Amino acid sequence: MEFQFDLIVVGAGSGGLAAAKRAASYGVKVAIVEANKIGGTCVIRGCVPKKLMVYAAKSKKNMTSSEGYGLKSESISFESNILLKNIRKEVSRLSDLYKDSLNKLNVTVFDGLGRFLTQNELEIICPKTKKILQKISSKKILISVGGKPKKLNIPGIDLAWTSDDIFELDRFPESILIVGGGYIACEFASIFRNLGIEVTQLIRGEHLLNSFDEDLSLCLEESPTFTGINLISKNQLKSIARVNGNLESTLDSGDKIVTNNILIATGREPNLQPLNLDFLNLKMDGPYLDVDELNQTSNENVFAVGDIINKPNLTPVAIEQGRVFSDNFFNHQKRKVNYEYIPKAVFTIPEISTVGLTEKRAKEIHSEKNIKIFKCKFTPMSNTFKDNKSKCMLKIVVNKLTDKVLGCHMFGETSSEIIQMVSISLNAGITKKDFDITMALHPTISEEFVTMYG
Ligand code: NDP
Repeated sequence: MEFQFDLIVVGAGSGGLAAAKRAASYGVKVAIVEANKIGGTCVIRGCVPKKLMVYAAKSKKNMTSSEGYGLKSESISFESNILLKNIRKEVSRLSDLYKDSLNKLNVTVFDGLGRFLTQNELEIICPKTKKILQKISSKKILISVGGKPKKLNIPGIDLAWTSDDIFELDRFPESILIVGGGYIACEFASIFRNLGIEVTQLIRGEHLLNSFDEDLSLCLEESPTFTGINLISKNQLKSIARVNGNLESTLDSGDKIVTNNILIATGREPNLQPLNLDFLNLKMDGPYLDVDELNQTSNENVFAVGDIINKPNLTPVAIEQGRVFSDNFFNHQKRKVNYEYIPKAVFTIPEISTVGLTEKRAKEIHSEKNIKIFKCKFTPMSNTFKDNKSKCMLKIVVNKLTDKVLGCHMFGETSSEIIQMVSISLNAGITKKDFDITMALHPTISEEFVTMYG
């Protein structure tokens, strides 16, 4: 059978774009199908617009807390409509750039929803009219449609926002309830709080960021920028009702909270439903598509990368999966994605960054007696003349038997920039002695990583 394309990519997010561009660079005939703007979660409703909001929040915090440095700040006002308008402009600019780069590589872009007809054929549907626009076929199909926010199954849930809605707002609310204690909930709680919005955060457990090293969660909870948030733990949202233009949340405890709006940030899930995949009977891994290490599903013509497979749902991971897929199948390489030592950051203010094993996980794997912890916590020099005495924390997890550094964790300004570099050394198998014999750069926060002796 003759196919129109060598590769159809369904979903133009980080992973799909990386695969399409890499495959096209090898001269194969590539099409990409996307129902929304080109760019996916990261560019359109995730990392990029969120980080721009973080910069706004950080700028305001610095402007209003630097009187000790002689900087008076009596008349600072924040107009969220300006920020949100500028962010949308920037997101459109980036999306257009991605579209141009696809055109330059002769990748055919189909605007619409891709739906499987056979293992080699898709129909393109107009998302608004639901009309079939055309049919296309390919030797291989890569699914990279990403995820969508999970919603709680409670009365009134449709009144609440998900993170997707935040980026569509004209203005921020004056008060908000944020449900969840993971990446999205903590980042938005921090952004909103630092921009002067009244924030209540509701978590079902005891602590924020449960998948991170415990010291990082504690640092965040104790940080003065976070203590301005009304944190409610060990409770759950039971129902939502509209009351006099506001939203009233009823909790399991019976308590009621009234806020302008509610953000539900209780995780994300693969967005596979519109693809009509059922007839292919693909093997699943829970809600995710099951793939082998070549990102091949149980159907030999169908592949998957990004947030629809059970691997860390992070942009750089999806990009690498996409590139490795195309290198292997269109350039005869034998590459694998390296899932070890993936650096992670939560862009709260100050931010949290981490690479490698947490203290708890290291002790579970290597036994408590074989793990040594190096840790320091101090007020960074930048806070010397500030009212805000937020501390920073650096932590190294070491295997006593081999001296190998298993994990590095940091809470504090620019920790993401620091941990990105530290992850190179962990990948290279660095020992604690290598840290110790490295000269410090003074005065910095990160010098503490090479001056912690046990
Ligand atoms: P997370 O998995 O990070 O956090 C989900 C949170 O929701 C947890 O606190 C969890 O609680 C809570 N939760 C889950 N189910 C319920 C429920 N039924 N009722 C109450 N609380 C519930 O998900 P996010 O939505 O924050 O982010 C999704 C993913 O997106 C992340 O895992 C990450 O991969 C990616 N992301 C990455 C970012 C970055 O790199 N900076 C930024 C934003 C997103 P508990 O801890 O008790 O399970």
